[in-house]
Amino acid sequence: MSYIDEVMEQVIKQNPEEKEFHQAVKEVLDSIRPVVEKHEAQYKRDALLERLVNPERQVKFRVPWIDDKGNVKVNTGYRVQFNSAIGPYKGGIRLHPSVNIGIIKFLGFEQIFKNSLTGLPIGGGKGGSDFDPKGKSDREIMSFCQSFMTELCRHIGADTDIPAGDIGTGSREIGYMFGQYKRIKNLFEGTLTGKGIPYGGSLARTEATGYGLVYITEEMLKCNGKDIEGKTVLVSGAGNVAIYAIEKAHQLGAKVVTCSDSTGWIYDPDGIDVAALKEIKEENRQRLTEYKKYRPNSEYHEGKGVWSVKADIALPCATQNELDIDDAKMLVANGVFAVAEGANMPTTSDATKYLQNQGVLFLPGKAANAGGVATSALEMSQNSERLSWSFEKVDEKLKGIMVDIFHNLDEASKMYGEEGNYVVGANIAGFRKVAKAMNAQGIV
Ligand code: NDP
Repeated sequence: MSYIDEVMEQVIKQNPEEKEFHQAVKEVLDSIRPVVEKHEAQYKRDALLERLVNPERQVKFRVPWIDDKGNVKVNTGYRVQFNSAIGPYKGGIRLHPSVNIGIIKFLGFEQIFKNSLTGLPIGGGKGGSDFDPKGKSDREIMSFCQSFMTELCRHIGADTDIPAGDIGTGSREIGYMFGQYKRIKNLFEGTLTGKGIPYGGSLARTEATGYGLVYITEEMLKCNGKDIEGKTVLVSGAGNVAIYAIEKAHQLGAKVVTCSDSTGWIYDPDGIDVAALKEIKEENRQRLTEYKKYRPNSEYHEGKGVWSVKADIALPCATQNELDIDDAKMLVANGVFAVAEGANMPTTSDATKYLQNQGVLFLPGKAANAGGVATSALEMSQNSERLSWSFEKVDEKLKGIMVDIFHNLDEASKMYGEEGNYVVGANIAGFRKVAKAMNAQGIV
């Protein structure tokens, strides 16, 4: 059995039931096979892969909070500090009822390679809780966030671990967590990113993941003799990533005709109205059923269905494994020639393989959505130098980073004889830097 297969077997045995984590590790290990084979004796001697798939530290804690009726509720909090070889742990906090340790580990593992790809000095981590912010009052959200941070603050810091937003954690939640951190530690430091602009947040951080996704998609298309202008685009999700991906795609002359939330989806043949979407989701925190009031020509459908529409490009921006093999077949049949992942691991493994085999240009999330964490790292730089950069400066840096990421992974795919396989390219480019740093730092 090869070294990689041995390690994969151990991962499954030692982390039973964590199927998303298995999926993420398998994809990376399969991709980096040629690099590992070249250095197999050394990696095996140093147990490099065993160390890579085992988090440096993981904490699990109780989060008691009080609802508006005075009842005490208890959720579970997690922080997985996966790998600090190239910088302090960095990764978001997910608040969603589906959260468990396997999901946080898959996200933390992906984050190692994503952060490496940005070219910035940040390690990989992730956290979250099974708390559901939906339907909670501001006071309840505050009660939860303060309790969550009361424990989390022991483990994080501006030079140790710098959490950010993710599903269910937006600027409101980051604000409450930052306030509690500052109060307990008596320190005004940039230990969270995605902060509000008046207290150390970076301009363009809100837009960064969605904008970055479109910048890198544009670069991929350009390098393959295509253009985003005039194309019809499918987007899933209606959260932070989806909204700003739609906005940037429209600015570049494409037309996005779909979006979705956890209950249904919209088809708007005239192009999604971003201002209406922001009002519904960011301001009023409502369901997508409201969209028809703004755009009577649009259609609302219950359940899943975004991938059934005829289009050129698909940008999944909701959650993991939302695009399966049947969806992939529909996309190909409907003429989609490029898929770029705004969400983390939204495409199942068999769907990814199918799309690649059908010649669809496929950009994995760890590259395509890296604009968020890259801009978070820019927020850290601004906090360290106690300065705030203009929107234009941050946006320009973001664009440069996304273009560089594409060329890095493109070159890595060519170097290993896998031209056009951007999954392999991203994993190899991300892994090589982390492996070098781990080797240099000894057995830690
Ligand atoms: P948000 O919470 O802002 O939005 C998530 C969207 O996806 C919402 O529309 C939500 O629906 C929908 N959704 C969530 N879970 C499910 C589900 N199980 N089934 C169907 N729909 C679902 O999150 P973000 O936009 O921040 O994150 C989206 C994805 O992008 C995640 O995979 C995240 O990890 C990834 N990502 C985010 C980054 C960021 O900077 N925000 C950075 C890099 C990656 P509803 O409105 O009903 O809740």
